Amino acid sequence: MTVTATPIPMLSDNYSWLLRESVSGKVAIVDPAEAAPAIAAIEAAGGKLDMILLTHHHADHVDGVPALVARYHPVVVGNAADAHRLPNLDIAVHEGDTVDFGATKARVIDTPGHTLGHISYYIADGGILLPGDTLFSLGCGRLFEGTAKDMFHSMAKYEDLPDSTLVCAGHEYTASNAKFALAMDPDNRALQERAAEVAALRAAGKPTLPVTLGVERATNPFLRAPDAETFGKLRTAKDHF
Ligand code: ZN
Ligand code: FE
Repeated sequence: MTVTATPIPMLSDNYSWLLRESVSGKVAIVDPAEAAPAIAAIEAAGGKLDMILLTHHHADHVDGVPALVARYHPVVVGNAADAHRLPNLDIAVHEGDTVDFGATKARVIDTPGHTLGHISYYIADGGILLPGDTLFSLGCGRLFEGTAKDMFHSMAKYEDLPDSTLVCAGHEYTASNAKFALAMDPDNRALQERAAEVAALRAAGKPTLPVTLGVERATNPFLRAPDAETFGKLRTAKDHF
């Protein structure tokens, strides 16, 4: 494993992720909402930034980009379909493309639902999934642009990934997601254990991410929904919870 991912807290509940590839020493950052905490993390990691990976166009995922580009001149990667609404885009990618990251590659997975142009990245070397606002621990993103069917099929694209995959999501929503998940699935033992772990982590001021896809498969009601209709009902229930 040559790639490591570290969460950088931003705004009130966002995570940007700092990625390091140890063979080449390349550094990338995912969805920088703000420049200042990104710069602090980049300086602590050696003071260079080679690449910015963007999952979608929302301000809380891209607003740090212009200042980071001006300071470090990284290559900015994002969805070709959203080229008109992503700042400083250099490499416009499509479903199935691979993006070089030092000695390894990140694969692009098209995951519409939260927004229509939302993509995820998967780095097999290190087992890192960057789902942006598609998949959260014990939850999923709101449907701002896509339908429940879109989102269900997007999340189904993660099915081929190993249980050991590290889910490096865009928000620290886990504690509130746990309340909803427990209300939907009160007898789920794995969920009860995860909820207790989440409460302890948050009480200690620690992130609940990354979490493994294996844990999410056992606990996340949205990942466990058997079909798009059930998924849609859950999403509507969560919106009003
Ligand atoms: Zn978003
Ligand atoms: Fe967001």
